[in-house]
Parts: sequence; C-alpha cells; structure tokens
Amino acid sequence: MTVMKFGGTSVADAPAIARLVAIVGDRWRAHPGEAPLVVVSALAGVTDRLMAVADEAGAGRGGAVSDAVRDLERRHLQLLDDILAAAGATTDARTATTADEVRREIAASFDRLGQVAGALSVVGEVSPRSRDAIAATGELVSSRLVRLALTLAGIDAAWADARSALVTSGEFGAATPDMTATREALAASVAPHLARGTVVVVGGYVGATREGIVTTLGRGGSDYSAAIFGAALGAREIQIWTDVDGMLTADPRLVDHADLVDTLSFGEAAELAYFGAKVLHPSTILPAIEHDIPVRILNSRHPERQGSRIVAARPGGRPGGAGLAAAPARPGLTAVAAKRGVTRLDVSSTRMLMAHGFLARVFAIFERHRTPVDVVTTSEVSVSVTIDDTRALDAIVSELRAFCEVAVEPGMAIVAAVGDDLRDDPTLASRVLGALAGMRVAMVSQGGSRRNITFVLSEADAAAAMRRLHGERRPAREATA
Ligand code: ASP
Ligand code: MG
Repeated sequence: MTVMKFGGTSVADAPAIARLVAIVGDRWRAHPGEAPLVVVSALAGVTDRLMAVADEAGAGRGGAVSDAVRDLERRHLQLLDDILAAAGATTDARTATTADEVRREIAASFDRLGQVAGALSVVGEVSPRSRDAIAATGELVSSRLVRLALTLAGIDAAWADARSALVTSGEFGAATPDMTATREALAASVAPHLARGTVVVVGGYVGATREGIVTTLGRGGSDYSAAIFGAALGAREIQIWTDVDGMLTADPRLVDHADLVDTLSFGEAAELAYFGAKVLHPSTILPAIEHDIPVRILNSRHPERQGSRIVAARPGGRPGGAGLAAAPARPGLTAVAAKRGVTRLDVSSTRMLMAHGFLARVFAIFERHRTPVDVVTTSEVSVSVTIDDTRALDAIVSELRAFCEVAVEPGMAIVAAVGDDLRDDPTLASRVLGALAGMRVAMVSQGGSRRNITFVLSEADAAAAMRRLHGERRPAREATA
C-alpha cells in the first residue's frame, strides 16, 4: 500500500481539497484492492492559530480565546459548505447524513476547544499537555473534511481517529511513537479497511499515549506521522504532497538551469536541510528510511510531475562504501546550497601552541553562550569557525581574547556542494575544488560523512560560486543500473 500525506497548503481550501480528491481518486481507481492511507495536516495556518489560542489562554485573555475559537470554527464550517457546494447535485441522502455528522463533529470539536481553552484562561496557565490537546484540534477536523470530500466524489473512504491509530510516549509537544502498539492499533482499525479497498483518512501530527492522553509529535509532525504509519504498515512508498516540485539542485533565484533532483539519499537530504531546503525535515522520515521505504515529494498543483524521491541510498552510491569499484558511471554533485549572513571567527593561539585542551576551551565558550558553531576548520595553531547567531558575539570574542588572537569577519556565506558521489569517486572532490579556481575562499571543509564539501567565502561571491559548483552536478536523470 501507499501512504499519501497532504500538507496544510494542500488542504487549505475547497480548490485544494478538490485537487487532493482528484489525486487520491486517480490512485484509488488505478490500484483496486490497494487503497492508500491518506494523512493530512491541519488547514494552512490553523496550527499557528491554535498555538496562539494556547498562548492567549495562558495569558488569561479569555475574550481573545473565544474570538479565535469562533473564527476557527467559522473557517471550517465555511469549508464544509464549500465542499458541499462543489459536490453539488451528486449529494444523495447517505452523503447528506455524512455531511451532517461532520458538521456536528466540527461544532462539537470547537465547543470542546472553547471550553478547555476558556477554562485554562481563567487559571491563566497552560501545561504542555493542554497545549497538545488544543493543537490536535486542527488535524482532527481537517481529516474529517477530507474524508467527506472523498466520499462525495464517490470514493469509498473511512475516517480513522489519530488518537487511537498512533500510540506515543507522553512527551507532550515532542512525542515519539511506540511502534509495536501503533502497529497493533493499525492492524485492528486501519489495515482491514485498506485491504477491502477503502481509503482511510487520518490526521497527522496527533497521537495519544497508551492511556489515551492526546499528544503531538511537534511542529511539522504530519510528515513524521506519514513515515510512522508507512513503516508500521509496510508501505511500498510514502508520498509527501506539498506545494513545491521537490528538491532542487540549487536555488533557482541564484542559479540558472536548476533541476529537480529525481533521487537523493537520506544523507544528502539531511545535509541540504541545514541550508533551508525546507521541503521536509529529514529526521521526520527516518522511520521510513530505516524500513527502506522510499519517500517521494510531489506537487499537489502539478501531480503529473514526478517529484523527488528520497531513499536510504542512491543507486550507484553505497552507504559506507568507497573506492573506485563503487564509482557511479557519471559521478557528480547532487545539489549545491548556500547560507548567507554568516560570521567567521579566526581564533589563533600562540601561547597555547600545541597545548592540549585548546579546542575544548575555545568550544566551551561557544557552548556557554549557546551559540551553535556551523563550519569548523583547524590547523595546528588556529581554528576557524562560522556562526550565524551573533547575539553573543561580543561576549564570545572578549572571552576568547583572554587566551587567543581573534579576527572577526562578518558578511560571509557558506556554500555546500553535496553528493554521495564525493565518497564513491575520489576524483570528484578535486573537480569540485577546481571549479572555484581563482576565487577567494576563506575556509574549506569536508564533512566526516564525505558527502559534502563546504566553502566559506564572501557573500558577494556566493552566487558565482554556486553557479560554478552547479556545473559539476550529476546528470538529472540517473541511469538505474
Ligand atoms: N499542522 C502541524 C504543523 O503545522 C503539523 C504539520 O502540518 O505537519 O506543525
Ligand atoms: Mg509541513
């Protein structure tokens, strides 16, 4: 079976839901007896609003709470009406009953929300547990609307309650799955429907503990839900339907001819995520990768496009492998990415020359000021680092100056060349370095994973460097040997 996950923009309004229905319907008709599990986010912006409701309640602002809850209810009921209007003449008595049920459920959900958040606003305190109960409302109602829209389109569809389908730990706001219990829950309530050819719709992001207390997986958690469900059900593929075509070989605003990456490894996706490839957070799809289930990113506005596939290891690349024997036929970079607004610190010690403990002492200062260090390069007597959070820069520099010389250079950019081929073809690294010949490069670092080479150079040179590196990418369509 297949898991199809639709993000907030793909369920934002009636036209978006109509696109979802067409996509799911095509799949359902094309694969009889193999119905997909449809995982949905809350409507675009709703989780943010629910978090704001929790904040208002915590601040004791009962009036703001009830206004916001009423707005949210109105938006969902309006969407229900829009879905019914779009279905028009096709509604029969049975679907009309379903629609009435959904209307009552939505009203009841927001009543409950209003009561809970209202009560919390009297106390003026919101625990992580109550916050999760509030936030979960978004997915619980969006999933009912999507199920209704599928039913109205003549697709056999059932609704599953995420609170009984996904069993989690009790870490509110960051719950983790209990895979064994989740597998059992799905086998009882979801798998039989799918086996009969009935599409099942479930809200992402939401789960409950064994005791039935509502939890959430954390922001962006619907992708995580999709991966958990896919792993538990042994899916063939997990599709993440969103509003972009997939992962690109470079930022198209900086580089002409940026292509879609058709297949990338999990490790490559993880490297790119740091640079703001915000399509999805790789850690959320780990359950799928661990079970060797490919995850495909697809555009719900352009379902005919093939998207980007994230797999445990790309064909041609070998996880942990190296050497010429494993070299792909036409090696190249998978993607290049950049991050601007970076500050470089050059820290050198003459006094502590060759002394042990130098690096530890330097990094302890960054640690104490809670400032993440991104790129690091070292020589015997000096270390260069980059940071992008400069709030504690002055304090860090003055502490470092107690035992080092420090030079600070703002206005830098990190440019990363990413590709598993770097580890499989030892000549690729030198080609990549050669591509920047003549440019002023401040730092070069090859990650321990050997799937990226990172350059630090001036922001003004970043776009040119990206373009040159992009010329070293591997061919768009990979020959699957
Ligand atoms: N609705 C949740 C959020 O906005 C979960 C998700 O959409 O992935 O974070
Ligand atoms: Mg998302």
